[in-house]
Amino acid sequence: MNLQGMKDLELYQQILGLVEPWRVESVTLKPQEREIEVRVGFADTLWGCPQCQQRMQIHDYEERRWRHLDSCQFKTIIVSRVPNVRCPEHGSQTVAVPWAEKYTRFSRLFERLAIDVMLECSITGACSILGMSWDEADGIKQRAVKRGLARKVPAVMARLCVDEKGMGRGQDYLTIVAQVTEQQTTVEYVGGERNQASLDAFWEALTAEQLAGVEAVAMDMWEPYVRSTLAHLPGAASKIVHDPFHLVKYMNEAVNEVRKSEHRRLQAQGDDTLKSTRQLWLYGMENVPAQHAQRFDEVKELNLQTSRAWAIKEVFRSFWLCPGAKPAERYFGKWYAWAIRSRLAPIKKVARMCKAHLSNILTFFVHRLTNGPIEGLNNKIQGLIKKAFGYRNKERFKSDIFFHLGGLDLYPAQ
Ligand SMILES: [Zn+2]
Repeated sequence: MNLQGMKDLELYQQILGLVEPWRVESVTLKPQEREIEVRVGFADTLWGCPQCQQRMQIHDYEERRWRHLDSCQFKTIIVSRVPNVRCPEHGSQTVAVPWAEKYTRFSRLFERLAIDVMLECSITGACSILGMSWDEADGIKQRAVKRGLARKVPAVMARLCVDEKGMGRGQDYLTIVAQVTEQQTTVEYVGGERNQASLDAFWEALTAEQLAGVEAVAMDMWEPYVRSTLAHLPGAASKIVHDPFHLVKYMNEAVNEVRKSEHRRLQAQGDDTLKSTRQLWLYGMENVPAQHAQRFDEVKELNLQTSRAWAIKEVFRSFWLCPGAKPAERYFGKWYAWAIRSRLAPIKKVARMCKAHLSNILTFFVHRLTNGPIEGLNNKIQGLIKKAFGYRNKERFKSDIFFHLGGLDLYPAQ
Protein backbone atom coordinates (compact mmCIF):
# COMPACT_ATOMS: atom_id res chain seq x y z
CA MET A 1 0.00 0.00 0.00
CA ASN A 2 1.56 3.25 -1.13
CA LEU A 3 0.80 6.35 0.86
CA GLN A 4 1.39 9.06 -1.67
CA GLY A 5 -0.64 11.79 -0.01
CA MET A 6 1.37 14.96 0.49
CA LYS A 7 0.58 14.81 4.21
CA ASP A 8 2.33 11.46 4.77
CA LEU A 9 5.43 12.53 2.91
CA GLU A 10 5.59 15.76 4.84
CA LEU A 11 4.98 13.97 8.10
CA TYR A 12 7.97 11.69 7.60
CA GLN A 13 10.03 14.54 6.22
CA GLN A 14 9.42 16.27 9.56
CA ILE A 15 9.92 13.15 11.67
CA LEU A 16 13.27 12.45 10.05
CA GLY A 17 14.20 16.10 10.19
CA LEU A 18 15.26 16.07 6.54
CA VAL A 19 16.50 19.22 4.84
CA GLU A 20 17.57 19.89 1.26
CA PRO A 21 18.71 18.12 -0.78
CA TRP A 22 17.16 15.13 1.06
CA ARG A 23 13.42 14.52 0.80
CA VAL A 24 10.94 11.75 1.40
CA GLU A 25 9.80 10.33 -1.92
CA SER A 26 7.38 7.67 -0.81
CA VAL A 27 6.00 5.96 2.26
CA THR A 28 4.89 2.38 1.78
CA LEU A 29 2.86 0.48 4.32
CA LYS A 30 3.46 -3.29 4.25
CA PRO A 31 0.76 -4.70 6.53
CA GLN A 32 1.92 -8.31 6.10
CA GLU A 33 5.43 -7.55 7.34
CA ARG A 34 4.11 -4.96 9.81
CA GLU A 35 6.58 -2.61 8.24
CA ILE A 36 6.65 0.92 6.90
CA GLU A 37 9.19 1.70 4.26
CA VAL A 38 10.21 5.33 3.90
CA ARG A 39 12.06 5.97 0.68
CA VAL A 40 14.35 9.00 0.79
CA GLY A 41 15.66 10.64 -2.36
CA PHE A 42 17.55 13.83 -3.08
CA ALA A 43 17.58 16.77 -5.44
CA ASP A 44 20.26 17.16 -8.02
CA THR A 45 23.25 18.77 -6.35
CA LEU A 46 26.99 18.58 -5.85
CA TRP A 47 28.10 16.40 -2.94
CA GLY A 48 30.92 16.84 -0.48
CA CYS A 49 33.62 14.22 -0.04
CA PRO A 50 33.06 12.98 3.55
CA GLN A 51 36.76 13.49 4.31
CA CYS A 52 37.71 16.81 2.73
CA GLN A 53 34.26 18.33 2.01
CA GLN A 54 35.34 19.14 -1.52
CA ARG A 55 32.24 19.31 -3.75
CA MET A 56 31.91 16.89 -6.64
CA GLN A 57 29.53 15.01 -8.93
CA ILE A 58 27.91 11.70 -8.09
CA HIS A 59 29.96 8.82 -9.36
CA ASP A 60 27.68 5.94 -8.42
CA TYR A 61 24.84 4.94 -6.03
CA GLU A 62 24.43 2.36 -3.36
CA GLU A 63 21.01 1.36 -2.07
CA ARG A 64 20.99 1.12 1.70
CA ARG A 65 18.45 0.47 4.47
CA TRP A 66 18.31 1.73 8.05
CA ARG A 67 16.02 0.77 10.87
CA HIS A 68 14.33 3.84 12.36
CA LEU A 69 12.06 4.30 15.41
CA ASP A 70 8.84 2.33 14.97
CA SER A 71 5.72 4.16 13.77
CA CYS A 72 2.74 2.88 15.79
CA GLN A 73 4.51 -0.44 16.39
CA PHE A 74 5.28 -0.86 12.69
CA LYS A 75 8.96 -1.45 12.06
CA THR A 76 10.03 1.62 10.12
CA ILE A 77 12.77 1.30 7.54
CA ILE A 78 14.46 4.16 5.72
CA VAL A 79 15.60 3.21 2.22
CA SER A 80 17.78 5.40 0.10
CA ARG A 81 20.14 5.23 -2.84
CA VAL A 82 23.15 6.90 -1.33
CA PRO A 83 25.48 8.77 -3.68
CA ASN A 84 29.06 7.68 -4.03
CA VAL A 85 31.64 10.27 -4.92
CA ARG A 86 35.13 9.69 -6.22
CA CYS A 87 37.48 12.16 -4.61
CA PRO A 88 40.81 12.63 -6.39
CA GLU A 89 42.48 12.53 -3.01
CA HIS A 90 40.33 10.16 -0.88
CA GLY A 91 39.03 7.74 -3.47
CA SER A 92 35.54 6.33 -3.81
CA GLN A 93 33.34 7.19 -0.81
CA THR A 94 29.70 7.10 0.21
CA VAL A 95 28.42 10.54 1.25
CA ALA A 96 27.21 11.07 4.81
CA VAL A 97 23.44 10.85 5.35
CA PRO A 98 21.92 13.11 7.99
CA TRP A 99 19.84 10.42 9.77
CA ALA A 100 22.56 7.89 10.55
CA GLU A 101 26.22 7.56 11.41
CA LYS A 102 28.60 5.89 9.03
CA TYR A 103 28.66 2.08 8.77
CA THR A 104 25.46 1.43 10.68
CA ARG A 105 22.11 0.00 9.72
CA PHE A 106 20.24 2.07 12.29
CA SER A 107 19.20 5.69 12.36
CA ARG A 108 20.69 7.94 15.04
CA LEU A 109 17.38 8.11 16.87
CA PHE A 110 17.00 4.35 16.86
CA GLU A 111 20.51 3.88 18.21
CA ARG A 112 19.74 6.39 20.92
CA LEU A 113 16.64 4.45 21.94
CA ALA A 114 18.51 1.12 21.82
CA ILE A 115 21.22 2.56 24.09
CA ASP A 116 18.61 3.75 26.58
CA VAL A 117 16.93 0.35 26.63
CA MET A 118 20.24 -1.50 27.02
CA LEU A 119 21.24 0.75 29.89
CA GLU A 120 18.09 -0.39 31.69
CA CYS A 121 17.95 -4.10 30.93
CA SER A 122 19.94 -7.10 29.79
CA ILE A 123 20.91 -7.38 26.15
CA THR A 124 18.45 -10.27 25.72
CA GLY A 125 15.68 -8.14 27.20
CA ALA A 126 16.61 -5.25 24.91
CA CYS A 127 16.48 -7.57 21.88
CA SER A 128 12.96 -8.67 22.64
CA ILE A 129 11.72 -5.15 23.37
CA LEU A 130 13.27 -3.70 20.22
CA GLY A 131 12.78 -6.70 17.94
CA MET A 132 16.40 -7.04 16.96
CA SER A 133 19.07 -9.71 17.03
CA TRP A 134 21.70 -10.10 19.72
CA ASP A 135 24.44 -9.24 17.24
CA GLU A 136 22.66 -6.06 16.18
CA ALA A 137 22.17 -4.95 19.77
CA ASP A 138 25.75 -5.79 20.62
CA GLY A 139 26.95 -3.84 17.58
CA ILE A 140 25.12 -0.73 18.77
CA LYS A 141 26.58 -1.19 22.25
CA GLN A 142 30.15 -1.68 21.05
CA ARG A 143 29.91 1.38 18.80
CA ALA A 144 28.48 3.41 21.67
CA VAL A 145 31.41 2.51 23.93
CA LYS A 146 33.94 3.23 21.21
CA ARG A 147 32.30 6.59 20.55
CA GLY A 148 32.19 7.43 24.27
CA LEU A 149 35.83 6.51 24.85
CA ALA A 150 36.93 8.52 21.81
CA ARG A 151 35.12 11.57 23.17
CA LYS A 152 36.83 11.41 26.55
CA VAL A 153 39.14 14.32 27.26
CA PRO A 154 42.07 13.71 29.64
CA ALA A 155 41.20 15.37 32.94
CA VAL A 156 42.74 15.52 36.38
CA MET A 157 41.37 12.77 38.64
CA ALA A 158 42.06 13.59 42.26
CA ARG A 159 40.67 10.44 43.86
CA LEU A 160 40.97 6.99 42.38
CA CYS A 161 40.27 3.48 43.47
CA VAL A 162 41.89 0.40 42.01
CA ASP A 163 40.33 -3.02 42.27
CA GLU A 164 40.48 -6.43 40.71
CA LYS A 165 37.34 -8.07 39.46
CA GLY A 166 36.65 -11.69 38.54
CA MET A 167 34.37 -12.37 35.59
CA GLY A 168 32.10 -14.81 37.39
CA ARG A 169 33.59 -17.81 35.60
CA GLY A 170 36.92 -19.45 36.31
CA GLN A 171 39.88 -17.49 37.60
CA ASP A 172 40.00 -14.69 35.06
CA TYR A 173 40.47 -11.20 36.47
CA LEU A 174 40.47 -7.63 35.28
CA THR A 175 42.01 -4.55 36.87
CA ILE A 176 39.60 -1.68 37.26
CA VAL A 177 40.47 1.93 38.00
CA ALA A 178 37.62 4.24 38.94
CA GLN A 179 37.46 7.90 39.69
CA VAL A 180 35.55 8.89 42.81
CA THR A 181 33.98 12.33 42.93
CA GLU A 182 31.25 13.65 45.19
CA GLN A 183 28.69 13.20 42.43
CA GLN A 184 29.65 9.81 41.03
CA THR A 185 32.08 6.96 40.63
CA THR A 186 33.12 6.27 37.05
CA VAL A 187 35.33 3.54 35.66
CA GLU A 188 38.24 5.19 33.86
CA TYR A 189 40.31 2.20 32.91
CA VAL A 190 40.05 -1.57 32.63
CA GLY A 191 43.19 -3.68 32.36
CA GLY A 192 43.46 -7.27 31.12
CA GLU A 193 44.79 -9.09 34.19
CA ARG A 194 45.42 -8.30 37.83
CA ASN A 195 49.20 -8.13 37.66
CA GLN A 196 51.52 -5.18 37.87
CA ALA A 197 51.58 -4.67 34.09
CA SER A 198 47.79 -4.29 33.98
CA LEU A 199 47.99 -1.30 36.29
CA ASP A 200 51.26 0.05 34.84
CA ALA A 201 49.44 0.64 31.54
CA PHE A 202 46.97 2.95 33.29
CA TRP A 203 49.64 5.11 34.89
CA GLU A 204 51.69 5.22 31.72
CA ALA A 205 48.76 6.61 29.74
CA LEU A 206 48.35 9.60 32.08
CA THR A 207 49.85 13.00 31.29
CA ALA A 208 52.30 14.59 33.71
CA GLU A 209 49.55 16.99 34.75
CA GLN A 210 47.15 14.13 35.44
CA LEU A 211 49.77 12.29 37.51
CA ALA A 212 50.47 15.42 39.52
CA GLY A 213 46.74 15.84 40.14
CA VAL A 214 46.20 12.44 41.78
CA GLU A 215 45.77 12.99 45.52
CA ALA A 216 44.73 9.58 46.78
CA VAL A 217 44.43 6.02 45.46
CA ALA A 218 42.40 3.46 47.35
CA MET A 219 43.36 -0.17 46.91
CA ASP A 220 43.62 -3.59 48.44
CA MET A 221 46.90 -4.72 50.02
CA TRP A 222 47.73 -6.42 46.73
CA GLU A 223 51.47 -6.17 46.11
CA PRO A 224 51.39 -5.88 42.28
CA TYR A 225 49.13 -2.82 42.54
CA VAL A 226 51.19 -1.27 45.31
CA ARG A 227 54.42 -1.81 43.35
CA SER A 228 52.93 -0.37 40.16
CA THR A 229 51.66 2.72 41.96
CA LEU A 230 54.93 3.31 43.81
CA ALA A 231 56.80 3.03 40.51
CA HIS A 232 54.65 5.52 38.58
CA LEU A 233 52.87 7.94 40.86
CA PRO A 234 55.00 10.72 42.36
CA GLY A 235 54.56 10.78 46.14
CA ALA A 236 52.66 7.48 46.07
CA ALA A 237 53.80 6.46 49.56
CA SER A 238 51.52 9.04 51.14
CA LYS A 239 48.73 8.69 48.54
CA ILE A 240 48.02 4.95 48.66
CA VAL A 241 45.15 4.14 51.00
CA HIS A 242 44.27 0.58 51.96
CA ASP A 243 40.60 1.35 52.37
CA PRO A 244 38.19 -0.03 54.98
CA PHE A 245 36.17 -1.89 52.33
CA HIS A 246 39.00 -4.27 51.53
CA LEU A 247 40.31 -4.60 55.08
CA VAL A 248 36.92 -5.40 56.55
CA LYS A 249 36.52 -8.03 53.85
CA TYR A 250 39.70 -9.74 55.04
CA MET A 251 38.48 -9.61 58.63
CA ASN A 252 35.13 -11.11 57.65
CA GLU A 253 36.89 -13.90 55.79
CA ALA A 254 39.07 -14.59 58.82
CA VAL A 255 36.02 -14.80 61.10
CA ASN A 256 34.45 -17.20 58.63
CA GLU A 257 37.59 -19.37 58.61
CA VAL A 258 37.51 -19.59 62.38
CA ARG A 259 33.80 -20.46 62.31
CA LYS A 260 34.23 -23.17 59.70
CA SER A 261 36.94 -25.05 61.54
CA GLU A 262 35.24 -24.66 64.92
CA HIS A 263 31.94 -25.84 63.42
CA ARG A 264 33.65 -28.94 62.03
CA ARG A 265 35.18 -29.69 65.41
CA LEU A 266 31.90 -29.19 67.28
CA GLN A 267 29.94 -31.23 64.78
CA ALA A 268 32.35 -34.11 65.24
CA GLN A 269 31.20 -34.09 68.89
CA GLY A 270 27.55 -33.91 67.84
CA ASP A 271 27.26 -30.20 68.67
CA ASP A 272 25.31 -28.13 66.12
CA THR A 273 25.65 -24.74 67.83
CA LEU A 274 27.27 -23.08 64.82
CA LYS A 275 25.03 -24.56 62.18
CA SER A 276 23.72 -21.99 59.66
CA THR A 277 25.35 -19.06 61.44
CA ARG A 278 27.72 -18.00 58.65
CA GLN A 279 25.74 -14.90 57.76
CA LEU A 280 25.20 -13.87 61.40
CA TRP A 281 28.90 -13.28 62.01
CA LEU A 282 29.17 -11.07 58.96
CA TYR A 283 26.78 -8.51 60.36
CA GLY A 284 28.14 -5.54 62.17
CA MET A 285 26.96 -5.24 65.78
CA GLU A 286 24.43 -2.58 64.77
CA ASN A 287 23.12 -4.35 61.68
CA VAL A 288 21.94 -7.72 62.97
CA PRO A 289 18.38 -8.06 61.61
CA ALA A 290 15.69 -8.14 64.30
CA GLN A 291 14.58 -11.71 63.51
CA HIS A 292 18.11 -13.01 64.17
CA ALA A 293 18.93 -10.79 67.14
CA GLN A 294 17.99 -13.20 69.89
CA ARG A 295 19.70 -16.23 68.36
CA PHE A 296 22.79 -14.17 67.67
CA ASP A 297 22.89 -12.86 71.26
CA GLU A 298 22.72 -16.43 72.56
CA VAL A 299 25.49 -17.75 70.31
CA LYS A 300 27.67 -14.70 70.88
CA GLU A 301 27.62 -15.19 74.65
CA LEU A 302 28.89 -18.75 74.42
CA ASN A 303 32.58 -19.15 74.97
CA LEU A 304 33.36 -19.85 71.33
CA GLN A 305 36.42 -19.12 69.25
CA THR A 306 34.06 -17.73 66.64
CA SER A 307 32.58 -15.17 69.03
CA ARG A 308 36.08 -14.08 70.01
CA ALA A 309 37.05 -13.68 66.36
CA TRP A 310 33.87 -11.73 65.76
CA ALA A 311 34.57 -9.39 68.70
CA ILE A 312 38.08 -8.72 67.39
CA LYS A 313 36.62 -7.91 63.99
CA GLU A 314 34.04 -5.57 65.53
CA VAL A 315 36.65 -3.71 67.52
CA PHE A 316 38.73 -3.37 64.37
CA ARG A 317 35.77 -1.72 62.63
CA SER A 318 35.84 1.08 65.18
CA PHE A 319 39.44 1.80 64.19
CA TRP A 320 38.07 3.89 61.33
CA LEU A 321 36.23 6.13 63.76
CA CYS A 322 39.47 7.42 65.33
CA PRO A 323 39.74 11.19 65.04
CA GLY A 324 43.13 11.17 63.27
CA ALA A 325 46.23 9.23 62.29
CA LYS A 326 48.00 9.48 65.70
CA PRO A 327 45.13 8.18 67.82
CA ALA A 328 44.44 5.58 65.13
CA GLU A 329 48.00 4.33 65.37
CA ARG A 330 47.65 3.93 69.16
CA TYR A 331 44.28 2.22 68.75
CA PHE A 332 45.77 -0.15 66.21
CA GLY A 333 48.66 -1.01 68.54
CA LYS A 334 46.27 -2.14 71.30
CA TRP A 335 44.02 -4.00 68.88
CA TYR A 336 47.00 -5.72 67.32
CA ALA A 337 48.32 -6.93 70.67
CA TRP A 338 44.91 -8.43 71.42
CA ALA A 339 44.49 -10.02 67.97
CA ILE A 340 47.97 -11.54 68.00
CA ARG A 341 47.35 -13.18 71.41
CA SER A 342 44.01 -14.60 70.25
CA ARG A 343 45.44 -17.99 69.27
CA LEU A 344 43.20 -17.79 66.20
CA ALA A 345 45.44 -18.36 63.19
CA PRO A 346 43.27 -16.66 60.51
CA ILE A 347 42.86 -13.56 62.70
CA LYS A 348 46.58 -13.39 63.46
CA LYS A 349 47.34 -13.62 59.78
CA VAL A 350 45.16 -10.63 58.90
CA ALA A 351 46.52 -8.68 61.88
CA ARG A 352 50.10 -9.24 60.68
CA MET A 353 49.18 -8.21 57.15
CA CYS A 354 47.60 -5.00 58.44
CA LYS A 355 50.64 -4.25 60.56
CA ALA A 356 52.94 -4.67 57.56
CA HIS A 357 50.84 -2.17 55.63
CA LEU A 358 49.98 0.13 58.51
CA SER A 359 51.50 3.29 57.06
CA ASN A 360 49.17 3.06 54.06
CA ILE A 361 46.23 2.22 56.28
CA LEU A 362 46.80 5.33 58.37
CA THR A 363 46.70 7.46 55.20
CA PHE A 364 42.94 6.94 55.42
CA PHE A 365 42.84 9.58 58.14
CA VAL A 366 44.41 12.11 55.78
CA HIS A 367 42.40 11.34 52.63
CA ARG A 368 39.16 10.00 54.10
CA LEU A 369 38.26 7.86 51.11
CA THR A 370 34.99 6.45 52.27
CA ASN A 371 33.60 3.02 51.61
CA GLY A 372 30.36 3.92 49.88
CA PRO A 373 31.64 4.59 46.34
CA ILE A 374 33.99 1.58 46.28
CA GLU A 375 31.36 -0.75 47.64
CA GLY A 376 28.74 0.71 45.30
CA LEU A 377 30.94 0.17 42.28
CA ASN A 378 31.64 -3.38 43.40
CA ASN A 379 27.93 -4.12 43.73
CA LYS A 380 27.16 -2.64 40.33
CA ILE A 381 29.81 -4.75 38.63
CA GLN A 382 28.51 -7.77 40.51
CA GLY A 383 25.07 -6.89 39.12
CA LEU A 384 26.41 -6.84 35.56
CA ILE A 385 27.99 -10.26 36.04
CA LYS A 386 24.73 -11.63 37.39
CA LYS A 387 22.68 -10.15 34.56
CA ALA A 388 25.07 -11.65 31.99
CA PHE A 389 25.20 -15.00 33.86
CA GLY A 390 28.97 -14.53 34.07
CA TYR A 391 31.22 -13.45 31.23
CA ARG A 392 33.11 -15.85 29.01
CA ASN A 393 34.74 -13.10 27.03
CA LYS A 394 36.98 -10.49 28.63
CA GLU A 395 36.46 -7.89 25.93
CA ARG A 396 32.71 -8.08 26.37
CA PHE A 397 32.99 -7.75 30.14
CA LYS A 398 35.25 -4.78 29.63
CA SER A 399 32.92 -3.00 27.22
CA ASP A 400 29.91 -3.67 29.46
CA ILE A 401 31.75 -2.05 32.36
CA PHE A 402 32.46 1.03 30.25
CA PHE A 403 28.93 1.06 28.81
CA HIS A 404 27.24 1.02 32.21
CA LEU A 405 29.81 2.53 34.54
CA GLY A 406 32.13 4.62 32.41
CA GLY A 407 30.12 7.85 32.68
CA LEU A 408 30.56 8.10 28.91
CA ASP A 409 28.64 10.12 26.35
CA LEU A 410 27.35 7.12 24.41
CA TYR A 411 24.84 8.63 22.00
CA PRO A 412 25.36 9.26 18.31
CA ALA A 413 25.91 12.93 17.48
CA GLN A 414 22.66 14.66 16.60
ZN1 LIG B 1 38.25 14.06 -0.37
